[in-house]
Amino acid sequence: MAFVVGASNQSIYPLIAVRDGIVFPYAENVLVFGRQKSTDAINEALKREKKAVLVMQKNSNLDDPKITDLYDIGVVVSIEKTVLGEKGEINALVKGVEKIRIVEYTKEHPYFEAKVEKIEDELIDNEEIQAMVKHISLQVKKAINFGKTVDFVFLMNILNVTSPLNFSYQVAMVLDLKSDEKQRLLEEISLKKRLVDEVEYVNREIKILEIEQNISNKTQQKFEKGMRETFLREKMKTIEEELGGKGGEDREIEEYHDKIKKAKMPKTVEVKAFKELKRLSQMSQFNPESSYIRTYLDWLIEIPWTSKLDHDVNIAQAEKILNEDHYGLKKIKERILEYLAVIKLRKSKEEEENLTKKDGDKKEHPPTILCFVGPPGVGKTSLGKSIARSLGRKFVKISLGGIRDEAEIRGHRRTYVGALPGRMIQGIKQAGTKNPVFMLDEIDKLGHDYRGDPSAALLEALDPEQNHSFSDHYLEVSYDLSDVFFITTANILDTIPEALLDRLEVIHFPGYTEDEKFNIAKGYLIKKQIEAHSLESNKIGVTDSALRTIIRRYSREAGVRELERQIATICRKLARQIVENKIKYKTVGLGDLHKLIGPYKYSSSMIEEKDTVGISTGLAWTQAGGDILFIEVAVMPGKGHLNLTGHLGEVMKESCQAALSYIRSRWSMFGLSKDFFNKVDIHVHVPEGAVPKDGPSAGIAITTAMVSALTKIPVKRDVGMTGEITLRGRVLEIGGIKEKVIAAHRAEIKTVIMPKENKKDLDDIPSYVLKGLNFVYVDHMDEVLKISLVFPEKKKHHLSFAPKNYAVLDEGTN
Ligand code: ADP
Repeated sequence: MAFVVGASNQSIYPLIAVRDGIVFPYAENVLVFGRQKSTDAINEALKREKKAVLVMQKNSNLDDPKITDLYDIGVVVSIEKTVLGEKGEINALVKGVEKIRIVEYTKEHPYFEAKVEKIEDELIDNEEIQAMVKHISLQVKKAINFGKTVDFVFLMNILNVTSPLNFSYQVAMVLDLKSDEKQRLLEEISLKKRLVDEVEYVNREIKILEIEQNISNKTQQKFEKGMRETFLREKMKTIEEELGGKGGEDREIEEYHDKIKKAKMPKTVEVKAFKELKRLSQMSQFNPESSYIRTYLDWLIEIPWTSKLDHDVNIAQAEKILNEDHYGLKKIKERILEYLAVIKLRKSKEEEENLTKKDGDKKEHPPTILCFVGPPGVGKTSLGKSIARSLGRKFVKISLGGIRDEAEIRGHRRTYVGALPGRMIQGIKQAGTKNPVFMLDEIDKLGHDYRGDPSAALLEALDPEQNHSFSDHYLEVSYDLSDVFFITTANILDTIPEALLDRLEVIHFPGYTEDEKFNIAKGYLIKKQIEAHSLESNKIGVTDSALRTIIRRYSREAGVRELERQIATICRKLARQIVENKIKYKTVGLGDLHKLIGPYKYSSSMIEEKDTVGISTGLAWTQAGGDILFIEVAVMPGKGHLNLTGHLGEVMKESCQAALSYIRSRWSMFGLSKDFFNKVDIHVHVPEGAVPKDGPSAGIAITTAMVSALTKIPVKRDVGMTGEITLRGRVLEIGGIKEKVIAAHRAEIKTVIMPKENKKDLDDIPSYVLKGLNFVYVDHMDEVLKISLVFPEKKKHHLSFAPKNYAVLDEGTN
């Protein structure tokens, strides 16, 4: 019987300190009481009303807590059942009755006894409470699905909710909480707040369970793989031992030993390899590092250390091969042959000197590396392959486009998981010889960021002073790259780092004219594709007119990639028809193109059909080679806005501004009113979809189109122009002339206007291209307008713009 004291809700009970864990009101649990003080308290309680107070220790490690070590709020429990354990401990099934606060301790020895008063919770039951109850019970189920274990009895109590208060305490029993969190839940007198906290706790638990499940899935997979490998290795070993042979491990080490010997590594490398092999032999099969060592040894063994392929450089033979593989490119081939001649001379000089030099003296090498610069599809790669063929060496190509990390070139250190050598060494391994022709593609697309500058590593690889001992982070031993014949390629020069560019001997590939494309296709591409599709060249043909049409109306490019692709499509289609027995022989004529490669992709003439107001033709230069570009200008009534569209870059936008300022400053010459700009909006548009356009060289074309739109004087359709403009109308030198002129030729432009200072750049352009074009060199915008606008003949000399031609401007003329 409890002693009811004073106020009716105060009673005295034996009190038991619990290390951690709370039996919440309404909840049942089995507890084991082992400490003497606890068992005494239980025994006392059993004598009374079978009730005791449980309070939690603030620190669960204390064996003999004092009053101050206990929380003030606990639970009165009824002791439903007890079983005495072997060592005197008592297992008791207890049930939470009510929440109490300790008023005072009435006894400390031999057990605690305290006067307590009941605490009532603040209860409300509304829709929000119901919703939280439902949510929590769903979340608990979800947690169980994720692997949470919940005692069946607790679960049933939660699922068979009697009241939200009861529910909140039952849930508190199953949540995975720290002791202080449990205590806080108990002390909370607002039911709502308790439920809110429980929502948070259960969500946290689900998140953790989710992460755990993920980790355990992954670990399980890894573990299974590892187990499988270990098991198989063990099995193999046992079988080998049974058969009386050597254990697998010993044999493996022996095999590595032989391979290292055979790889003819330099002494230092061999020493390193044996050192690693020794580590491997001392290592347990189960050590994960052993597989890293195996991979490392495999690399050392497979890299060519001495293997060289070399014909003596025979210039006549090389010339024959270059011509065999490529049409035209006369100057380029000459440059290459000169370069090869230098190599040959150096080599013989070196051999002479070697007779007198001691080993280890530094070799001399060609001072520069070739760099092929030009748009895609102009034969850079295939020329590289031909060089390899003519030198009797292997050819490898790696792309540097988009590489930002130095480790891509130089490898990752072996401490990295999954580390490998860099691309240089990978390329060498792929070649299988020490002196391949090694093409480094797209060096203009090399990036750099916080992970180091790949161009620095590249520079080391290319520098003859250093590259006899190129260091790769993975290999840890240096590799001699000095016998490699490096060729680099790029679309543009601007983005190549200065230090790198210094080392390069640049050879420009300007792009092909229509005639050149025709001959390349006829002499090379068609044959190549017929062979590639296992067709027979005597059964398949393409007429000249069909071929020219493919060039003109199915491709528009500086190189021949698209053209080759179209030819490949034709061959593929014909191959199918032959297999299906629909045809035996075929000469593809004009009439077949539609069926084989679809409708025309480009209109017959690239330039406008007639002279038009507000449209000029610019000559542009992009990474894909030269091209023509239309500048469209429309003038409409407005308030002086300049609208620019068509993906124009910053520099091109500035050109538009400069053009407008030039025109505004010369309003009187153009017969415009002084404030004409306040009454119009001008819209400049450069079509051709999403191709980004930038650079200053469209300046004069933009100005011409603007003047034309404002004065309504048409621009001549067959005039193409390029040049930067200043505010005062001076025309400045620009780049990419060769590519632009070829593009003008391709587009059937008749007259090309370009800055006077660029006249010198015409030297390199084939004469048949120059022949078809009329060049006008200018240094002022006035001259451009004289040539490009359709003036009545008599007015041309004074560049006078007839007032009646004004656009929207009919007043205030001078
Ligand atoms: P790039 O490396 O400049 O992008 P490729 O070397 O890949 O161009 O050339 C594309 C295709 O065009 C290849 O099949 C190549 O053989 C062919 N080709 C390019 N130029 C010529 C040429 N002058 N003579 C013969 N074939 C050529």
